[in-house]
Amino acid sequence: MNSAKSGAIDVFIALGSNLDNPMNQVLRAIDTIASLPATELCCRSSLYFSKPVGYADQPDFINAVIMVNTRLAPKKFLAALLATEQCLGRERSFRNAPRIIDLDILLYGQMVLDDSELTLPHPRMHERAFVLIPLLEIAPEISIPGHGTAARCLENKPGHDVRRIDDTEYTSP
Ligand code: ADP
Ligand code: MG
Repeated sequence: MNSAKSGAIDVFIALGSNLDNPMNQVLRAIDTIASLPATELCCRSSLYFSKPVGYADQPDFINAVIMVNTRLAPKKFLAALLATEQCLGRERSFRNAPRIIDLDILLYGQMVLDDSELTLPHPRMHERAFVLIPLLEIAPEISIPGHGTAARCLENKPGHDVRRIDDTEYTSP
């Protein structure tokens, strides 16, 4: 739901980490995003373990999805996420490489956009169980423009290695 009065938009963000205490990295990133200007954290999924996709010889990932309500424009919001990645120590080496933190915009309202800097919805979200499962936990009815409901996208992906982490399993840094 987007508030026409304030011009604020609901935005879903996927978080992933598999280096340097990944649970802590994801929780720190959520705190940082929650403190961005003109942005309010609405809800966050549980944390999940997932097996690496694409390049298998690396540690398991911790994943989560959050929803925020923001008045930042899409590219301003992306810039803020990329700055947050830098701040937490993200280094880019090769595609699908291990990472301290990855922050992807899944949905910015129902906006559709495809340019060199930003693609909305995120172009691979509909095929990733590690995104769809936490997303559905916080937004069971959500639709992905061009792909139907997230629930249906997940049905089309039988067999996945994504496990919800119980709160009691959280480790402190
Ligand atoms: P990946 O997330 O695919 O592993 P990166 O995190 O290195 O790759 O992102 C590379 C670039 O992808 C970013 O600099 C950003 O400009 C671009 N990008 C395009 N669409 C999105 C999106 N929806 N969310 C986040 N980044 C995006
Ligand atoms: Mg990314």
